[in-house]
Amino acid sequence: TTAPVWVGAWEPADGAARVRALFAERFGGEPDGTWSAPGRVNLIGEHTDYNGGLCLPFDLPHRTYAAVRRTEGDVVRLVSAQEATGVREIALADVAPGTVQGWPAYVVGVAWALREAGHAVGGFDIAVDSCVPYGAGLSSSAALECAAAVAVDALFGLRLAGTAEEPDDAGRAVLAAACIRAENEIAGASTGGMDQSVSLRGRAGHALLLDCRDGSVRHVPFDLAAHDLALLVIDTKAEHALVDGQYAARRAACERAAEVLGVETLREITPDGLGDALATLAHGTGPVGEGSEDAEVLVRRVRHVVTEIARVEEFVALLDDDRVEEVGEAMDASHASLRDDYEVSCRELDVAVEAARDAGALGARMTGGGFGGSAIALVRAAEVDAVAAAVADAFAAQDLHAPAFLVAVASAPAY
Ligand code: ADP
Ligand code: MG
Repeated sequence: TTAPVWVGAWEPADGAARVRALFAERFGGEPDGTWSAPGRVNLIGEHTDYNGGLCLPFDLPHRTYAAVRRTEGDVVRLVSAQEATGVREIALADVAPGTVQGWPAYVVGVAWALREAGHAVGGFDIAVDSCVPYGAGLSSSAALECAAAVAVDALFGLRLAGTAEEPDDAGRAVLAAACIRAENEIAGASTGGMDQSVSLRGRAGHALLLDCRDGSVRHVPFDLAAHDLALLVIDTKAEHALVDGQYAARRAACERAAEVLGVETLREITPDGLGDALATLAHGTGPVGEGSEDAEVLVRRVRHVVTEIARVEEFVALLDDDRVEEVGEAMDASHASLRDDYEVSCRELDVAVEAARDAGALGARMTGGGFGGSAIALVRAAEVDAVAAAVADAFAAQDLHAPAFLVAVASAPAY
């Protein structure tokens, strides 16, 4: 058997000490302060955010830390422990879509978006370090953006974030919007808004029910330990090549389907109206769009989105009813829908989900955009190690890269 590899979260004081040390080493002197923001997992509601739908993410204890010092002028100097690029220097005046290469786009993009929104943001030095698994579908990108956002908020007196004790949700929604613009327009990744919203607007001990139609949120108590349960996260380490193009293709398919159906977003298709909508897509219009997606494909994409939004509602109803041990069925159905209808799973994710279930998980599914990244499994607290070992064994038996594991407890948002 293969011993599972665990990815622990840093204590906040340790994370802050790391970035302070990196800052002193690379820039000299002291930062004005340290800030941090979490990665996330999504319990259910995948590929629904850009369809005006519902999703249910929560914040990981794994965070990205930033030590930041405000400077004169408009130059941003950046260094990251995760990137061997050395210190990068970018003048904010030069930031525009397409001008910034590599990871600094996620940071200067936030400053750019806040400036675009009318806030007076200038230069700063920023040193970054993180224990959020990188590119694992756990949203290290949003953790970086949101850590930068709360730092800029504090250093330039934007007064949007509120305090760690009393977060200002409306202000945080403004910061989240800037982070989303940074990722879409400056980093060039066409993601929806789930990741940035939960990193800024989540709450410890709660999952975040996010309604992407109007941006409203509800904090849903989520305490697995009280039920002797745990959420096991499996980072499959699968290379996700093609991910950007595939993601954009899914978005485009949904937009085309909405156009054919005459709705603003697919959120407007209710489960009751799904049959009619699918019939319209299948028979009424023939091939749709510029030849890249045929009608049968659009049918499956829409079926995923509409049933997935309904599954979020079911999941939340069970949580509200304190029946969390019953959510497994919705998780399993979500995975099947993402695999078969939305076609964003991959072998590693399917192996992880099946092995976890075979080892006793109450439910399991891929989480995040797919094509690699991570899966989650709801397991009895006493069986966490056994399920992880079984998944590690299944990967070894299939000659897959060894996965990594973490236990996700709903933690604090950016501060
Ligand atoms: P995910 O968000 O699932 O981890 P993404 O591909 O969206 O994966 O984001 C990963 C990218 O975000 C990295 O390739 C890098 O450009 C940037 N990034 C994330 N965290 C850091 C960090 N700590 N330092 C530098 N860049 C980072
Ligand atoms: Mg990301």
